[in-house]
Amino acid sequence: MARYTGPSCRLCRREGTKLFLKGARCSSAKCAMEKRPYIPGEHGNGKRFNKKMSDYGIHLREKQKVRRIYGILEKQFRKYFKMAAKKTGVTGENLLKFLEMRLDNVVYRMGFAPSRKSARQIIRHGHIIVNGRKVDIPSFLLKANDEIKIKENRSQMPLIQEAMEASTEVDSIDWFKVDKPKFTGTVLNIPSREQIQLDVDERLIVEYYSK
Ligand code: SF4
Repeated sequence: MARYTGPSCRLCRREGTKLFLKGARCSSAKCAMEKRPYIPGEHGNGKRFNKKMSDYGIHLREKQKVRRIYGILEKQFRKYFKMAAKKTGVTGENLLKFLEMRLDNVVYRMGFAPSRKSARQIIRHGHIIVNGRKVDIPSFLLKANDEIKIKENRSQMPLIQEAMEASTEVDSIDWFKVDKPKFTGTVLNIPSREQIQLDVDERLIVEYYSK
């Protein structure tokens, strides 16, 4: 599947905010948003982060921000939006729920990978078992009570161990539980909007696609 292969930090600089795409580096002084806090490219400059935007620009930027946080290309993102709109409930919240239940996101949230990008790599390499069966599709949508496990002979992988040691947010998330010594995690429920730790306004995305 096609995916963005350019520099991750450029995406943060374009959105003017940290999207936390590179694990531990994002919290260090090496973060590009600390060193070069302006829009990338020939015409980028610090002031443009605060440039007054049109309504369309505001809606577009919020959509791009969410899309980039989850590492999804436009076509697939639009597909999630259509699915969310068809489902009963609030469309914006439904959209975030679909994105949160992607396997790559859950592997990252559970602390088995330092970023969603790394989580995708771990999954594609066949290191993840869901309910006893190997799943190598990062976009696989999980359900309540699904159990994720790192393949036994892979659990010593330095990347996974380092990620688990460094992960600090896992304990603050209550819609899944993780058994670190066993390298397993279980989804307890599909998260409500309040349980999704994401500082975005999903209503702006709905506005964007409703035009
Ligand atoms: Fe974004 Fe992380 Fe790069 Fe900083 S280090 S710019 S937060 S991806």
